[in-house]
Amino acid sequence: MVFRNFEFFSKKKYEKNTENRREKICGKVLNNILLSDKKRGSNKEIYHVEISVQNEVKYLPGDSIGVFPENSSNEIHDIIEYILRNRKKKGSEINIFNLFKKEFNIFNLSDNFLKKYSFLSEKKNIPSNRKWKLIDLLKEFPIKKEFSLRDLIKIMEPIKPRLYSISSSPKAHYNEIHITVSRHSFQLNGETVYGHCSDFLSKLKEGEKLSFFIYRNQLFRLPKNSEKDIILIGPGTGIAPFRSFLYEREAIEATGKNWLFFGDQHFYSDFLYQTEIQNWKKKGVLNRISLSFSRDQEKKIYVQDKIWENRIEFFSWIKNGAYIYVCGKKNPMSIDVEKMIFRVIEEVGGCDPESFMKEMKKHGRYLKDVY
Ligand SMILES: Cc1cc2nc3c(=O)[nH]c(=O)nc-3n(C[C@H](O)[C@H](O)[C@H](O)COP(=O)(O)OP(=O)(O)OC[C@H]3O[C@@H](n4cnc5c(N)ncnc54)[C@H](O)[C@@H]3O)c2cc1C
Repeated sequence: MVFRNFEFFSKKKYEKNTENRREKICGKVLNNILLSDKKRGSNKEIYHVEISVQNEVKYLPGDSIGVFPENSSNEIHDIIEYILRNRKKKGSEINIFNLFKKEFNIFNLSDNFLKKYSFLSEKKNIPSNRKWKLIDLLKEFPIKKEFSLRDLIKIMEPIKPRLYSISSSPKAHYNEIHITVSRHSFQLNGETVYGHCSDFLSKLKEGEKLSFFIYRNQLFRLPKNSEKDIILIGPGTGIAPFRSFLYEREAIEATGKNWLFFGDQHFYSDFLYQTEIQNWKKKGVLNRISLSFSRDQEKKIYVQDKIWENRIEFFSWIKNGAYIYVCGKKNPMSIDVEKMIFRVIEEVGGCDPESFMKEMKKHGRYLKDVY
């Protein structure tokens, strides 16, 4: 199957990259570990998911996987029961169940779908300013008796995959892919609701299967020359590809220096991969670590503040050819980080930041993977 319908990352970038015309891969969960801890005061739920794969699956540090979430069985039972009510049962219910569970998007229905659905519905004027779930739509705008389940299936849209940066390294984790997933939550009509894919991933148990593809990102690669220094700026789940980078640099015994900027809300509950990071520091794989935990003191401190605090050394690294990598939230994190890098170049280096950065980008030394 070739994927055409992506909203979650640059369509242009995706389509240019013919390597990404990939088949679905089936993986099995080895471990699913909660890294952040609400009991310790975290406001987040971040999971480290380890997936076992067959040896043909090739990837490089910097790649992501595109995961196809499945729908919850309870929700599908409700939908099928509702559709089949007062209708002659046609086809196997099992097949229908699997289609709705694995193939069709039933949340956050698109305007295009709502338009098509309105032709099947007894009542018109479905409000489009609301985010619809299929079950609510079926209840509030029932399908006319003359239309069958097949007519509904014809207009269903496929589940869209979501991307997750790979946090393992093929050199260190044989036949495994690791990802770092933040379970999205938001309020809807006074209730806490969870993001479809991150919720699906957070609930996967050891031995359960999932479908995904490898999203190759040629624009986010380690320097070919392993003697080059790298600066990794990845707060929150932005740490994921840098865990992969550091395992890789350790495995290939790269001689370039590594400097990690990591941050989150609280040291005690949100320091993702703390033990591994501290071990890398002990072993000398990490030459520098700069940590910022925004809510552990009255004044919030972010990764960009740590860049400023270490501005002289930071400029000296980039002047000497270090590569800068930024991963995590596009807004505001990557914007604030970029502004700070500009400031350091201008105020510490006395250079024109526009042309300095242009030069860095030209040589592939300023790379971002933000979302
Ligand atoms: C290149 C790239 C790399 C990424 N890497 C990572 C990573 O390493 N780790 C990670 O955790 N994430 C990563 N992401 C983000 C990830 O792909 C998903 O976007 C994220 O997990 C949310 O997906 P979801 O299916 O859980 O939420 P969705 O169901 O897609 O919901 C997303 C948002 O839409 C809104 N929404 C959805 N449904 C409704 C509704 N019914 N009513 C009102 N609002 C609604 C909410 O604001 C919600 O938070 C990456 C993204 C990209 C592009």
